[in-house]
Amino acid sequence: MALDLQALPYEFINDLKERGHSEEDISKMTPERAFTEYCNWQGLINWGDSLWLAVHKFKNANMNEEFVAISNNLVQEVKAYQVTIYECECPFCEANVRVADDDGLSEASFEQKCTECGKAFPVRCE
Ligand SMILES: [Zn+2]
Repeated sequence: MALDLQALPYEFINDLKERGHSEEDISKMTPERAFTEYCNWQGLINWGDSLWLAVHKFKNANMNEEFVAISNNLVQEVKAYQVTIYECECPFCEANVRVADDDGLSEASFEQKCTECGKAFPVRCE
């Protein structure tokens, strides 16, 4: 287990560094260890393990909000409708490229960028 420092707020990393850990050390910590060190730095000495467990227990007890809304009949049935999707073939790499919804209008001409090779080419919707 290791930590992705890009995914952590800068303040967290900074606090751990002020506690004497290098970024390399931090990146090798488990999330639990980093959290414990973070708690220690915040003055929650030896609270890390208990708080870590508590957070996970509270999270596990969280009911899925969508499910709660459905079971309480708070969500109305919505209508589904048929849509036309435009696709074209890239003249450079022959990939099938889906035209963005707001460009995909009948008779419309525009420049499309290939999602595979990134090259642009003119398209006209039939
Ligand atoms: Zn292409």
